[in-house]
Amino acid sequence: MKNISFYRVTPCEREEYFLNIIFRFQVASSGLCLLQLPIWRPGRYQAQHFSKNIPQVRAFNQAGEGIPLHKKGTSAWVFLGKQDQVVEVRYAYYANQADAGGSISTSKMLYLNFINCLMYVPGEEDNACEVQVDIPQDWEVCTSLISRQQGVWSASSYRELVDSPWIGSLELNKYSWKQGDCQFWAEGIGSPNVFQGKLLEAYRKISAYQLAWMGHFPVKEYRFLHWIKEEAFYHGVEHRNSTMMVLGPPDRDLYDDLIGLASHELFHVWNIATIRPKELFPYNYAEEVYFPTAWFVEGVTTYLGDWFLVASGVYQTEEYLASLLGNLKLHFERDGASQQSLIESSIDLWLDGYGKAIPGKRVSIYYKGAIVALGLDLLIRKKFAHRKSIREVMIQMNENFGRKELGYTLSDVYRIVEEVYEGSLTDFWRIWVEGNEPLEEPLNELFEFVGLKMEKSERGLLLNQLNGELNLDCQNWLQGIIK
Ligand SMILES: [Zn+2]
Repeated sequence: MKNISFYRVTPCEREEYFLNIIFRFQVASSGLCLLQLPIWRPGRYQAQHFSKNIPQVRAFNQAGEGIPLHKKGTSAWVFLGKQDQVVEVRYAYYANQADAGGSISTSKMLYLNFINCLMYVPGEEDNACEVQVDIPQDWEVCTSLISRQQGVWSASSYRELVDSPWIGSLELNKYSWKQGDCQFWAEGIGSPNVFQGKLLEAYRKISAYQLAWMGHFPVKEYRFLHWIKEEAFYHGVEHRNSTMMVLGPPDRDLYDDLIGLASHELFHVWNIATIRPKELFPYNYAEEVYFPTAWFVEGVTTYLGDWFLVASGVYQTEEYLASLLGNLKLHFERDGASQQSLIESSIDLWLDGYGKAIPGKRVSIYYKGAIVALGLDLLIRKKFAHRKSIREVMIQMNENFGRKELGYTLSDVYRIVEEVYEGSLTDFWRIWVEGNEPLEEPLNELFEFVGLKMEKSERGLLLNQLNGELNLDCQNWLQGIIK
């Protein structure tokens, strides 16, 4: 039997931020052997070229003799291997990317996203592996990986390993609760004040609501991981059985940001980790992978992530409508006249989807995508007088693709929505998804159903109640009532 791949990560004592990494594995067959470092990570669809943090890579045989190794591309190396030969690859990694998707090594903490720093042999991503992380004896660790031996963590595959963030520090907050069959945790680095009862109660309510709403939760354990930084920060990354949220500073009230982010990232357990575009099934970490449905991934998650707050009772109606207006402004006041469609901006995530883009080009797949999800929810609720909603769409996507481990295409999304809607939505797709026409009017037509109206004012966009009070349809929508 082949030895399983083994990694060892040791913070360098002499140089801050550097990690010394060993990757030991057995060569599957004689010939040219490829070593690859991911160029991107799921959750951020943009090449980040983590290999820029590696000064040099060397390889050795079991006798400790050097094996000639050649750089083949910016993130790939090759050597001539013999079948069953055990090879040890050694390199340093500069871990100084202090966000939710990076890795950082200091004297006080070690935060690792293995996808940044651990190589793999292409074709062996599904093989089991182990990672040893060298930290002081008295440090605590948070990770969803299983540890069967002190200081060593196991993963059933490289894919699981790189989807499992790892936090080590002297003091970590750890809270846990059970929801149905699933064990939940809220853990991480930060002032204990942040982990107040109010926050944990909100996490409980949001999780309970989402699990009941979808009816099927793909994992048995889920972790809300935190790193509360001293400086102002807001970043979250989704994983299959955890989310990492980096926020700060601790002296502002982080509650609203945390519950909003946690609700969004939890829904990604379904909408990306399980229900996934065909192009991302499985993940190819070595190349850019374009998919026209990024708006469905992030738009639906953005809309529902916020809507779950009000439907689960964590937010009052007024709080929800204020956050909805905030999202509407982010589209209409910034990108409302942009030239790209949601599909074009989905592909261009890889080009300029994060950070700044040139004026008038891009739409945000998050905020315009959320408007499409809102539009669909209201359209379905209106036609069926609240007997159906976007919930049926997500349940059907989960049944047809998620649970069957099949990727979906754009036409699959259209088909499933039309099946739920029981009618053609060709014009809807053309205007809302494939085109760049302004959406104020069509959205206001749907808002009328729930007694709301978007209006422009000197102070910017407003979301007004038509008769000064919430109508029954609005209450049904915001309370998640299905007749
Ligand atoms: Zn997201």
